Amino acid sequence: SEKRLRHSEQLSVIGELAAGIAHEIRNPLTSLKGFLQLISHESSGSKYEDIMSSELERINLIVNELLLLAKPKEMEFEPTRILSLLKTVVTIANTQAILHNIQIKLVYNEELEKIMIYCEENKLKQVFLNLLKNAIEAMNEEGNIYIKFKKLGDKLHLFFIDEGPGISKEIIGNLGKRFYTTKPDGTGLGLMISMNIIREHQGELFITSEEGIGTKVEVVLPIKESPTLKESITSAQV
Ligand code: ADP
Ligand code: MG
Repeated sequence: SEKRLRHSEQLSVIGELAAGIAHEIRNPLTSLKGFLQLISHESSGSKYEDIMSSELERINLIVNELLLLAKPKEMEFEPTRILSLLKTVVTIANTQAILHNIQIKLVYNEELEKIMIYCEENKLKQVFLNLLKNAIEAMNEEGNIYIKFKKLGDKLHLFFIDEGPGISKEIIGNLGKRFYTTKPDGTGLGLMISMNIIREHQGELFITSEEGIGTKVEVVLPIKESPTLKESITSAQV
């Protein structure tokens, strides 16, 4: 619909703006990292240099995330092993989780190892990172975040479960609205962008929460059927 189109146009404007700024930050960032390395070589290295280096790494991570926002003209969907994508995301999110004594636990078995999703990998990574970031920010100090899955028919259900304070009934309806945030330094863009990306993948995103217990975000994605199965259906029809 027209309304939907305008919405996605706005999204790409935000994306291009963010990517443009990220691009500008990248050059001075690269030189900062270079000079810090030089200093570390000359002096014998102090804890301040370690902190500076890890903080620079965080800026680097954020900048890279923002660069992903630049919307390519057309989405390029590729068959992707969802498990390896999740493992990468967990590795990235762990750098933040560790600082808060939070453990991210990816719970899976052989079934998930085989599951392929037809997706734009970087976009889906961005969604999962947003969800984990929200969970970490909600929990603040200590606890577990679980990533679980369920295969139901031709759909993969992923669950991101945290042990944070949960979300009140009054607030939950506002989630995903543009710029809606309850955090002093929040952007209120994470869920909106995530919901859009999931919709572009013919998927769905649900948030359920219980105050004092935690929040569960469910992402439903279509599973890419294996080519052999597709072939056998086609030949059966002929
Ligand atoms: P931001 O993180 O910048 O605030 P988001 O769109 O990612 O923006 O999230 C919007 C709001 O949704 C958050 O400010 C927070 O109030 C709420 N929220 C999202 N995820 C969780 C969660 N796991 N637990 C509690 N509240 C959450
Ligand atoms: Mg967020």
